[in-house]
Amino acid sequence: MWSTHQFWCGLFGALGIDRRNLVFSGDTSEEQGRQFGKGRGTVDCCYPVKCIAGHYGELVFGQREKLDIVFSPMIYTVPSMLSGHVARTLTCPRVMAAPENIKGGFIKERDVFAEQGIRYVTPFVSLDEPKLVAKQLFEGGLREAIPGLTHAEMARAVEEGFRALRSFAEGLRKKSREVLEWCAREERPCLLVLARPYHMDPGIGHEIEGDLQAYGYPVLWTQYFPTDPDLLEWAFGEDLRAGIIKSPFDIHDVWPSSYSANTNEILWGAKVAARIPWVACVVRLSSYECGMDQPPGPGLHQARRLGEDPRGDDHALSREVRRGHHREEEGRDAARLPIADDGNYVTTGSGLTIQQA
Ligand code: SF4
Repeated sequence: MWSTHQFWCGLFGALGIDRRNLVFSGDTSEEQGRQFGKGRGTVDCCYPVKCIAGHYGELVFGQREKLDIVFSPMIYTVPSMLSGHVARTLTCPRVMAAPENIKGGFIKERDVFAEQGIRYVTPFVSLDEPKLVAKQLFEGGLREAIPGLTHAEMARAVEEGFRALRSFAEGLRKKSREVLEWCAREERPCLLVLARPYHMDPGIGHEIEGDLQAYGYPVLWTQYFPTDPDLLEWAFGEDLRAGIIKSPFDIHDVWPSSYSANTNEILWGAKVAARIPWVACVVRLSSYECGMDQPPGPGLHQARRLGEDPRGDDHALSREVRRGHHREEEGRDAARLPIADDGNYVTTGSGLTIQQA
């Protein structure tokens, strides 16, 4: 939802549903989990997925007016700026399956949705394959949930959804570009967050980037980093001409197994951070370094071959960040943000890794 909510707002708006009748569950919090999710947990070691029980409970039990539908799509692929340049743009399989998994906690003794008169709708949808989306949503439950809905109306609403999503992302990229230009003009550093979109949820990301912003450092998110051709040519032109990559969005040089949309974006963000001097620091958020969230591999080995100190961190993205550090040593100007007195690498207990780029 943190990366696609604008699509859903646009889609349901086009279907005639008043925005005021679209209810999103609140930010994740311990209180939400205690009050609404307690006793409804299902077996999953993933923290972000576990939290969904509290969100469902809030929607079912925590509303002043009862809801008619709880809509929780199983999203298979997500639109990404890297689409077409990577192997796939799949979502995390645990997140994808969560609507079925978490539902278990609400139907284990009795069907809570039915009891509350709520229809539970969970279509399987490939948001990065737009031609499939209308059919998937129509046949995946919206035909029954919205009486009288036709396939043509569904198709038009899907177009509106994509338009809303595009316009939202373009607006944020434009804003990020303004921030970067300000940094260049004022010779000020900024921070780049390498994370999954759900880390924007204050209960999952712990508002770490907000705390850093309070010290006066502008914070950019990888998913909304500007993708203007002039900027990408400046950052990646050398690699393109050397034949290392086929496009500025190509990450096969650091991550050939580019199936997961968010993992790909995180690695691309690391490459960007290594090349844009005003990105003086990356903030890497990870909930518990699950397999999906732990791009391993060639980085460590190559880093070792190059005689670098891998500092026990075997991420390809770490290599990219270190590469940025080397570029700086090679003479490129870079704004510096002194995070640690005794080195360039800090890890905190909350899953936060800060590295100077
Ligand atoms: S990427 Fe890992 S931590 Fe994130 S939702 Fe998926 S399984 Fe959970």
